Amino acid sequence: MRHGLLLGLAAFLAVGASPSDTPAPWSRPQRPFHVVGPIYYVGTEGIAAYLIQTRAGLILLDGGLEESVPLVERNIAALGFRLRDVKLMIATHAHYDHVAALAGLKRDTGAAFASSPGDRGAYETGTPPSQVNYGVIHFPALKVDRVLADGRPVTLGGVSMTPVFTPGHTPGCTSWTMRVTDTGRPLDVVFLCSLTVAGNKLVGNKGYPGIVADYRRTFARVKRMHADVVLPGHSEQADVIGRAQRRDGGNAEAFVDPALLPRIVAESEAAFDAALKKEQGR
Ligand SMILES: [Zn+2]
Repeated sequence: MRHGLLLGLAAFLAVGASPSDTPAPWSRPQRPFHVVGPIYYVGTEGIAAYLIQTRAGLILLDGGLEESVPLVERNIAALGFRLRDVKLMIATHAHYDHVAALAGLKRDTGAAFASSPGDRGAYETGTPPSQVNYGVIHFPALKVDRVLADGRPVTLGGVSMTPVFTPGHTPGCTSWTMRVTDTGRPLDVVFLCSLTVAGNKLVGNKGYPGIVADYRRTFARVKRMHADVVLPGHSEQADVIGRAQRRDGGNAEAFVDPALLPRIVAESEAAFDAALKKEQGR
């Protein structure tokens, strides 16, 4: 299932993508739901947006496609939250499918946006720097209010989230870690930045010359991380929607899966190795 969808995504990216022919689940409405601790899912069926509740307002992580702005806003309201209580917006990486909505969401919420240094230029221009095989897909430019430092937590209302720079998929790809308490026990949550090649040119990438070394360092780094709960930008990669359904069906442990992060990393690294070999003609 997960494999099939990822292969479908790879094929889609390989034939050339534009915002007008994205996979249907990326813009399909999804009922919002509680995940674990203070974390809620407010994205579409295929593209995640996570809302984190604090005593001093809300943090929004990723937003989705530009056309998804009303869906995400409706989801936030459906959970009983107010748009103006979104105080901080953060992201995994500067690709249109995850952050094209953020400019509209920033306008409507007034939230500050914090960016990694590596993707800052991409956010501010709406143009990712890495050369990809599906052409350049722009997204609405986004004002960067704060620049993150690797490993230095951002805090709001007693909630801390730590950016872990995991470049490769984009130069500023940022995974986020936080510890939550859910039904009385602590859980380590990792919001994982994409580890896929997804059309990135690996050999002779003029926009991102260090791309291969960055992927290698990122795979090594993520292998050292622990996650009880993995929350990716593409919901199907961790079956986030299915886990919510199983949890609602009575399985209290549905989101807890410490084997998931190692499995995603192993699959991603193998796919990366194969893509690199293919590009090198070996
Ligand atoms: Zn991406």
